[in-house]
Amino acid sequence: MRSIFSFTLSEMREYLVEHGCAKFAADQVYQWLYKHHEIDIDKWTNISKKIKEHFRENISFKLPEVVFHIQSTDGTRKFLLELDDGNTVETVAIPAQGRLTQCISSQVGCAMGCLFCNTGTMGFIRHLTVAEVVGQYMAVTKWVRENGDDPEIRISNLVYMGQGEPLHNFDNMLQATKVFMEEKGLAIGGRKITLSTSGLVPQIKKLNDFPAVNLAVSLHSTFDEKRSQLMPVNDKWGLTKLFEALNSLELREFRFITYEYLLIADFNDRPEDIAGLCRLLDTKSSKINLIPYNEFPGSPYKRPDDEKIEWFKNQLLKKGHVCTTRASKGSDIMAACGQLKSKEDKKNRGDESL
Ligand code: SF4
Repeated sequence: MRSIFSFTLSEMREYLVEHGCAKFAADQVYQWLYKHHEIDIDKWTNISKKIKEHFRENISFKLPEVVFHIQSTDGTRKFLLELDDGNTVETVAIPAQGRLTQCISSQVGCAMGCLFCNTGTMGFIRHLTVAEVVGQYMAVTKWVRENGDDPEIRISNLVYMGQGEPLHNFDNMLQATKVFMEEKGLAIGGRKITLSTSGLVPQIKKLNDFPAVNLAVSLHSTFDEKRSQLMPVNDKWGLTKLFEALNSLELREFRFITYEYLLIADFNDRPEDIAGLCRLLDTKSSKINLIPYNEFPGSPYKRPDDEKIEWFKNQLLKKGHVCTTRASKGSDIMAACGQLKSKEDKKNRGDESL
């Protein structure tokens, strides 16, 4: 049964017309779902009986189920969501500066096998469907509205940085992004969505066809040998191919590229690494986001001390780069970047289960 959350607005219009219903009803359906967050069709006052009956028989309204939730001391909430087939994925809601940002997963597990990443150790299980991607947003919105202090709270920003490589699931992420951005629905602007990739070159080349969202690239080293040690994807598409693809992108109005740089003690925090970044990255269209490494049980790398992190950042600022250090949110609940891994959470879930 097709999910209601898999339709873009234009698909919904076509679908209703194909089934002998009025095209304009699609806009009303979209409003109920995404403006009013109402998924009980009995409450859809302006929708015809015919459409409701058709939906009841043919369309699923099921959302991924929140089976576990934990809150960090900094307010970050991690959710474990169970999908229809029993697989689970994680998603994280991060409050900061009056905004609520959701970190969205794109796959169950991940094929990329980055060595610093807990999710990478799971291997690839499957792609998420469009409905499961959109469903993460809807399920978490529902949960925070019902269980938080603000029944009207809205998730305003999305980062595709949860489990999985979003560009490996290109078509479904593209479709889900259209749903997120639809003006008559959630209307999340492209500036508020960030797609992060480990560097899948063939799909990067297709990004001009993607809605204009922010792009983040996991760089982590400007030396092929070191980058390959961290990211097996670099063996196939090394830095030269990666930058050829990135440079072929039309950087639309606001689509500068953020380079994520995991800062690891005595590995990529040396003066030659600063020189490498200056050589490779243009100061106008790039932004460098330093992510001090989050250690996890058994992790092979160490986090540099705070003084070193500050030194590294200042060197880049002096060279004219826009450079920020990502505050690690939710590291006490293993929700920080690279720490998501759902199987163990499912096993370990305890009193916090809902
Ligand atoms: S960092 Fe991202 S791309 Fe790499 S293994 Fe983890 S989830 Fe996959």
